[in-house]
Amino acid sequence: MSLLVVGTVAFDAIETPFGKTDKIVGGAATYICLSSSFFTNKINLVSVVGEDFPGAAIQMLKNKSVNTKGLQIKKGEKTFFWSGKYHNDMNNRDTLETQLNVLENFNPLVPDEFKRSEFLMLGNLMPSVQKKVLDQMTKRPKLVVLDTMNFWMDHFMEDLKEALESVDVLTINDEEARQLSKEYSLVKAAKLILQMGPKYLIIKKGEHGALLFSKTSVFFVPALPLEEVFDPTGAGDSFAGGFMGYLAKTNDISFENMKRAVIQGTVMASFCVEKFGTQKLTEITQGKIDIRTKELIDLVKAT
Ligand code: AMP
Repeated sequence: MSLLVVGTVAFDAIETPFGKTDKIVGGAATYICLSSSFFTNKINLVSVVGEDFPGAAIQMLKNKSVNTKGLQIKKGEKTFFWSGKYHNDMNNRDTLETQLNVLENFNPLVPDEFKRSEFLMLGNLMPSVQKKVLDQMTKRPKLVVLDTMNFWMDHFMEDLKEALESVDVLTINDEEARQLSKEYSLVKAAKLILQMGPKYLIIKKGEHGALLFSKTSVFFVPALPLEEVFDPTGAGDSFAGGFMGYLAKTNDISFENMKRAVIQGTVMASFCVEKFGTQKLTEITQGKIDIRTKELIDLVKAT
């Protein structure tokens, strides 16, 4: 099944206790596309970059079977830029700078051939832009998943709430769930958020795993205990890519299958954090994904 991915394609500058990078290629959509490319080869990208964005990075996405027809390249403009610094525990980070640049006036145009994509991943981006993409679909996708972050809650909460009314699944981290619901307990937060529109909610808790809520059930997957975590940037997006890629591959959106998709998302996130930026996602193989999937299942299986 085809997967339409919307989100930032960006430059990031990252600082972790293990090192620092200057501008490297990142962005929510970049991580989502790379991660989902291990599950489906029908990935359609809608995003925007400036003239400063390297052609080689676009080619890298094309090599992963990503259709970049919906990636606008704005002459004379600069690519979205984000910089962040992680605390010692790597679970928390501070955004040091967000330069919207090309995003400021971004009008997403969904190419006609993308408008009937069966799965839609509204990756982290301005909520009004996420909504505009959904509104251009000629057929309601089988599943619409939205990811967002505190930045958009701080500045565009009303737009976000409007977008949430039309989606099936919301993925956010624990702090964002608290911010959105104004509830500290994640169980209470989930109840409230599930009244805002989404039928399912995924709360990512970094090294403490992820929770999948429906109105009546809850499922938990721990994170894989890793020897080395270098850079958590993009973990949430790699999770979303694995989750959506798996659902698009299996074409089954039942709660039972979403549980398996959460496992695949967790596996993809575990690779992402082992090297800076997108590097690890460009190095792994299907065999490595299969081994880790088994390791994760074995982690919680008692005989
Ligand atoms: P994650 O660590 O999964 O939350 O995603 C990190 C990626 O999100 C980075 O590559 C950034 O370029 C991108 N990013 C950071 N801030 C924003 C924002 N406000 N909107 C969209 N993408 C962002």
